[in-house]
Amino acid sequence: MEKYDVVIIGSGPGGYVGAIRCAQLGMKTALIEKYGSLGGTCLNVGCIPSKALLDSSEHYHQAKHDFTEHGIDLKDLKVNFKQMIARKRGVVEQTVGGIDFLMKKNKIDVFHGMGSFESPTVIAIDDSAGEANKIEAKNVVIATGSKPGSLPFIKLDKERVITSTEALELKEVPKTMTVIGGGVIGLELGSVYARLGTEVTVVEYMDRIIPTMDSTMSKELMKSLKKLGIKFLVSHKVKEVTRKGKVVTIKADDKKGAEVVLTADYCLVSVGRVAYTDKLGLDKVGIKTDNRGRVDVNDHLQTNVPNIYAIGDVVKGAMLAHKAEEEGTYVAEFMNGEKPHIDYNLIPGVVYTWPEVASVGKTEEELKESKVSYKTGSFPFKASGRARASMDLDGLVKVLADKETDEILGVHICGPRAADMIMEAVVAMEFRATAEDISRISHAHPTFSESTREAMLAATDNRAIHI
Ligand code: FAD
Ligand code: NAD
Repeated sequence: MEKYDVVIIGSGPGGYVGAIRCAQLGMKTALIEKYGSLGGTCLNVGCIPSKALLDSSEHYHQAKHDFTEHGIDLKDLKVNFKQMIARKRGVVEQTVGGIDFLMKKNKIDVFHGMGSFESPTVIAIDDSAGEANKIEAKNVVIATGSKPGSLPFIKLDKERVITSTEALELKEVPKTMTVIGGGVIGLELGSVYARLGTEVTVVEYMDRIIPTMDSTMSKELMKSLKKLGIKFLVSHKVKEVTRKGKVVTIKADDKKGAEVVLTADYCLVSVGRVAYTDKLGLDKVGIKTDNRGRVDVNDHLQTNVPNIYAIGDVVKGAMLAHKAEEEGTYVAEFMNGEKPHIDYNLIPGVVYTWPEVASVGKTEEELKESKVSYKTGSFPFKASGRARASMDLDGLVKVLADKETDEILGVHICGPRAADMIMEAVVAMEFRATAEDISRISHAHPTFSESTREAMLAATDNRAIHI
């Protein structure tokens, strides 16, 4: 039996990054992936393909709605959806191919097949031909990720009642789509289809969309997405989803208990994702899971079996690719006897709609709840020259800073290129900067990032210049 220092099960951003870091540190490393391609949810059916379709659909939407005002006249503009999907597949293939290259470069042995525990140090790999292989490991990392969640009464037929995976591979642009869940997936993929002309209705159980983010972001994003034509039913509890032929009927109760009936060509179920540990044989080695099926880990991402670690979507915390990557690096360095550190408060969250929403640190609701005394500063993009030039006037930057010390506690941006802009705030908070520190740094003009500076000025002493 081949022996390894570490065997990682699952090749998503947690698993493959962890494998590379282990190899860099001189460990003999194996990576097991049940599918034929590496990269996990993120590269195959998550971050990368969704961003490819978001970019394509945004180009179309701009061409249709903004180009004339920019002085560009186009004739016969239409969507070639087949090509859009084909380009997305090409982006995925190239990105996934890059991971194969990185595995070879780092001399990581890759096994394709379902990995499962025989014992804490022996992993069986069942390939698609039913051939079982066994390998031995000093340490094992579970990086098996997550799969789409659903509601108990919904039958996902994966044709018309679909998850994000199918929504990335549709054969036609739907005329109508109901999205259950106004979280990240629902709003990103809802935006893709709304831009392409689908009538999209989002049904959300909570009283606002993206309910875990700062409530100002929920309001700002909802205003913009309404302009895109998306309809919202918040505080609605879906209770039934049925399909007859090409029609899906969705029944929900509003907050007063009155029934609302919607019909659509497609229903996208995006109510969260669940940890994936099927057929992993956790019972065989006695690994504990929590009440949501996630692998229980301590502060070092170690399970109750000391040589077995778990990272990424399969453990507690935000289900984000960069969080999984950080954890992959963490366990590699921890196994190497180092003292790594992850500041979970500083893992940014982004919604890639347009405008984008990006956040780091505490929300205003969290500060209120923990009774921290804080001050706010905000700056709207409509007061930014750069935003006027690019016709991106929706949204704002909101800064939350400690009332006494002025330390930045949270930054929330709804606006153009918020995903990239948030990094200034992440760096500032990593170095425990104050709002005044950032407001005294020269920001290039004209840039969107000047709006962050203005919000910092507003938080410092109500000193914003351009409002
Ligand atoms: P995964 O990426 O899920 O990888 C786990 C891998 O393990 C899979 O390849 C699986 O096949 C394999 N596996 C499972 N069990 C076994 C087994 N027993 N044996 C062998 N292999 C096994 N996050 C962001 O940060 N930014 C985004 O823009 C973003 N967009 C997203 C869009 C969509 C539509 C979706 C669905 C998700 C998105 N995410 C995004 C979330 C992101 O994809 C996940 O947080 C990330 O992929 C988690 O990484 P992971 O390594 O923990 O698991
Ligand atoms: P989510 O948790 O972001 O949103 C789910 C939404 O569904 C919530 O707003 C919730 O209140 C709502 N909901 C739950 N039950 C409901 C019901 N019965 N009726 C109506 N609404 C209901 O989950 P998601 O959008 O499915 O995404 C899953 C995970 O994937 C997220 O944790 C996210 O971090 C990750 N992801 C990240 C990105 C990104 O970083 N840009 C993109 C896509 C997905």
